[in-house]
Amino acid sequence: MEIRISNIRKQFELYPALHQVSLDIRSGELIALLGPSGSGKTTLLRLIAGLEIPTSGSIFFGDEDASRKSVQERNVGFVFQNYALFRHMTVAQNIGFGLRVRPRGQRPARTEIRRRAEEMLELVQLPGLGSRFPSQLSGGQRQRVALARALAIEPRVLLLDEPFGALDARVRKDLRKGLRDLHDRTGHTTVFVTHDQEEALELADRVVVMSQGRIDQVGTPDDIYEAPNSASVFSFIGESVELPVTVGNDTVLLEGRSLSLPTGDAAKGPARLFVRPHDFEIVPDGPDTIAGTVVAQRPQGGLRRVEMAIGGGNGRRIEINVPRDFDEPLTGEIRVRPKRFRLFPAEAATS
Ligand code: ADP
Ligand code: MG
Repeated sequence: MEIRISNIRKQFELYPALHQVSLDIRSGELIALLGPSGSGKTTLLRLIAGLEIPTSGSIFFGDEDASRKSVQERNVGFVFQNYALFRHMTVAQNIGFGLRVRPRGQRPARTEIRRRAEEMLELVQLPGLGSRFPSQLSGGQRQRVALARALAIEPRVLLLDEPFGALDARVRKDLRKGLRDLHDRTGHTTVFVTHDQEEALELADRVVVMSQGRIDQVGTPDDIYEAPNSASVFSFIGESVELPVTVGNDTVLLEGRSLSLPTGDAAKGPARLFVRPHDFEIVPDGPDTIAGTVVAQRPQGGLRRVEMAIGGGNGRRIEINVPRDFDEPLTGEIRVRPKRFRLFPAEAATS
């Protein structure tokens, strides 16, 4: 099911939680809403579900205006972070719940509901656990039962709000892979909320980066990581080093030195240079380098993390990653050059 969200605003009394949000979700895609806490992810998900009504704007499911339809009419399945299972029901009863509460006429027969629960348990790789109670399951198993319950109603759209948030790192990783596999097998249009950029980049077909009730960027994980369109997306996705510069004609004035670097279509004048820590290279003296003094270093994964002080006495510190087997002695003064970088406008002066 394709979902078209157009110019959605959501105001809670005086507080605007979403400003003019538009987003097209393609049929069958796994899309992640990624952003810090308070950026409006849950609100957007609840609007898609029909648990909230937009202040203005529209939501279409295919050609059908879903904006005024109830949760049941939209036929969405959802899983929330702390969406507890019913403790007094078995796993199978939990999974069948959404089918049992359907109005007479749309409600499948008991045996069919039981069969469907078993099928869903197979799908989430918990075959045969239908007669257990939630208290007899691990956290990761419970979350998979919640997923099975959401899928049992054969939803047109699957909505997941930080579904693995409460679990430990190891279990999260397993479930992440499980969700991707499940998605590839069932092909549900799935909207997944997370504040964890690694989770979003690893799992999603496309990532929607949100902050302060707005969408900053939509793109594939590669787009988002390689070509962030703003300083806030760059620094939210992965690690970054930010340096104040002045842009000239394919030159960048950095810490008092003029480096000839491709500046693309960046406006001349004050700007912010962003570099990933592993996108610096250490080079011998040259015109397009800046100097720094090594302050500390330690191994980090397959790389060496080097903390250096640049810009002489003003004390600016940056941390960069270099190949671990780099055989130059990293002591005293070294010179570095940003190999890959992005330039964004300087922040407007605030008084
Ligand atoms: P996220 O899921 O990204 O953390 P939310 O969508 O939950 O963000 O919230 C976005 C903003 O809207 C937050 O500032 C939150 O306090 C506010 N908000 C969310 N729900 C309500 C509500 N029912 N009443 C008032 N403010 C709300
Ligand atoms: Mg939330």
